[in-house]
Amino acid sequence: ARRRLARAHKRVANARNDNLHKVSSRLVNESQVLAAESLRIINMLKNHCLAESIADAAWSELFRMIAYKMKREGKYFVQIDTFFPSSKTCSCCGFKLDKLDLAKREWTCPHCGAHHDRDANAAANIRAEGIRILRAEGLPVLRREMSSPKAR
Ligand SMILES: [Zn+2]
Repeated sequence: ARRRLARAHKRVANARNDNLHKVSSRLVNESQVLAAESLRIINMLKNHCLAESIADAAWSELFRMIAYKMKREGKYFVQIDTFFPSSKTCSCCGFKLDKLDLAKREWTCPHCGAHHDRDANAAANIRAEGIRILRAEGLPVLRREMSSPKAR
């Protein structure tokens, strides 16, 4: 039984690793530049009901794979650290809410009236911040329309 369990664990680990390689390769192949919130922020926001250690390890491994694959291809992977307020800043006008509860998945900007999906708005802000950082480092990053997550 112990050997069978060990084999089952190995199969699960192999499948997870294989999936992380596929996801990271797809992201790297589709992009010249990737920007993401740092793992510290992702870990702060994650759902504590999930199996935390497994989720932590998977995120770390995904970021590690993205980082080395981007580097290998001569591309840029920007991790947005500090307390960049990606979720509660309006990606249309820059207005910043005082607070936005984790449970709130959508919100309307009191300044410009834009209605936001929490994650899509955060992604737009992370993208803009990534471009800002790369430009500040002297890289000529062109601004293109972001593909909609819904269109994928
Ligand atoms: Zn706004």
